[in-house]
Amino acid sequence: MLQNRLEPVLDPRALAREMSNKLLIDGAMVPAVSRKTFKVVNPATQETVSEAADGAAADVDVAVSAAAKAQKAWGKMAPRERGRLVQECGRILNDHVEELARLVTIETGKAIRTESRVEAGVFADIFVFYGGLGSELKGETVPFKPGMLTITQREPIGVVGAIIPWNAPLLLMALKVAPAMVAGNTVVLKSAEEAPLTVLRACQIMNQVLPPGVLNILSGDGPQCGAPLVAHKGIGKVTFTGSVETGKLVYGAASQKLIPVTLELGGKSPMIVMGDADLDKAIDGAIVGMRFTRQGQSCTAASRIFVHESIHDAFVKRLKAKVDAMKMGDPLDEKTDIGTIISKQQYDKVVSYIRYGENAPGATAHRCSSMPADAKLAKGYFVQPVIFTGIANDNKLAREEIFGPVACVIKFKDYEEAIRQANDTEYGLAATIWTRDLKTALDATQRLEAGLVQVNQNLVVQANMSYGGIKNSGLGKEASLEAMLEHFTRKKTIVLNLG
Ligand code: ADP
Repeated sequence: MLQNRLEPVLDPRALAREMSNKLLIDGAMVPAVSRKTFKVVNPATQETVSEAADGAAADVDVAVSAAAKAQKAWGKMAPRERGRLVQECGRILNDHVEELARLVTIETGKAIRTESRVEAGVFADIFVFYGGLGSELKGETVPFKPGMLTITQREPIGVVGAIIPWNAPLLLMALKVAPAMVAGNTVVLKSAEEAPLTVLRACQIMNQVLPPGVLNILSGDGPQCGAPLVAHKGIGKVTFTGSVETGKLVYGAASQKLIPVTLELGGKSPMIVMGDADLDKAIDGAIVGMRFTRQGQSCTAASRIFVHESIHDAFVKRLKAKVDAMKMGDPLDEKTDIGTIISKQQYDKVVSYIRYGENAPGATAHRCSSMPADAKLAKGYFVQPVIFTGIANDNKLAREEIFGPVACVIKFKDYEEAIRQANDTEYGLAATIWTRDLKTALDATQRLEAGLVQVNQNLVVQANMSYGGIKNSGLGKEASLEAMLEHFTRKKTIVLNLG
């Protein structure tokens, strides 16, 4: 355990430098075995803010051994005591919300007021939430025969390998790490290439409380560091958030060891707005649902908005006016609503979808807001949000996950047609319906094919609300007690012959 209480470092550039060239293994900040590093770039300016340690198979080995060693005592600790330590992590992380928010802002380009600070706050809270669930690791008594006491017991799996993307690094880390640890597992987490710093800092803060080796952080690329982590014989469970393609690779590799896997993958979430919906609420819901403040970089993004023909034109006009009023700019500026796309690669991908849509027959691209005027942001990966109309549900803009600020508003005539189109997708993460009619609302909740269906609202992930998709959106649930019990423990049946 580190001895000194770390003080928050509010200068994100200084903190980014402090996090350079380090992994966190067995409670110590160490460089990669190879000593190699890779650049971490601020997407709002293209300035290099740090050089992250470039972990690979040799680092995976060291981290997994440290985690396996630590798991022996951690797994035997009284569950409430483990929970108490995890809650303590949440409490001290709460003192670091501002520094974590600033750091994640400069490595991801997410706006501090609308995104980063909110994420850092929820991050700390998830440790507090899960920390309270240690005593919920209950088993069952099974009615068998007189004199034969039969019980089930939940046990830790061992060492969990966690892999996360860049779009919400803190939130996604917490949803994996907190329940895994409370359930008695230890963790080796690999961060995303684009956003390794904040996750590392958060782990450094938590390592003041946790025994060494319980939570280890690697940075590095997918094939060189992620793949050996999944394949490592010491890893007993993999929890992954990322693209469908990589998710399938991870699933394939894990199947070779027959270990359990949780996958949170892509989405193309539908939002159905009926003719009788409260238009103001639906428009605000579309803005939240589409994650315009995060440049649409969310697997849950409500990127297919089916609007009844009777209100379609009014909906589009008012939605555009509201997005126009959102300010794009320096992500660290409190006045900014919308920051940048994460990287050149994603920027090129998003722009190519927009170009494709602009040339699609019958389509209209409504560009919203305006590019920042500030010269120091001239190289930033800013993309104006675009609302497309005149796009059919079978157009690739409505089928493929763009992971950018691109919403398709699709006109429909009748409810059956809307439901059919909403479900006509390879994904099934989330869906919403907006109506004042209770019967329609209830019917839609039964028929929409998604892991999370909401009526007249578009909440983001909430503690203790199971979150996870069906179809190509993934396997398993996160964020809840159920997620901890089902995905981070294994059940043993014990029969005692008392005769
Ligand atoms: P995204 O498009 O969101 O970057 P990816 O699926 O490519 O999604 O990446 C998500 C995470 O998966 C990242 O941490 C990345 O490094 C990791 N990753 C990429 N390829 C592999 C792989 N073959 N095995 C394990 N992890 C990988």
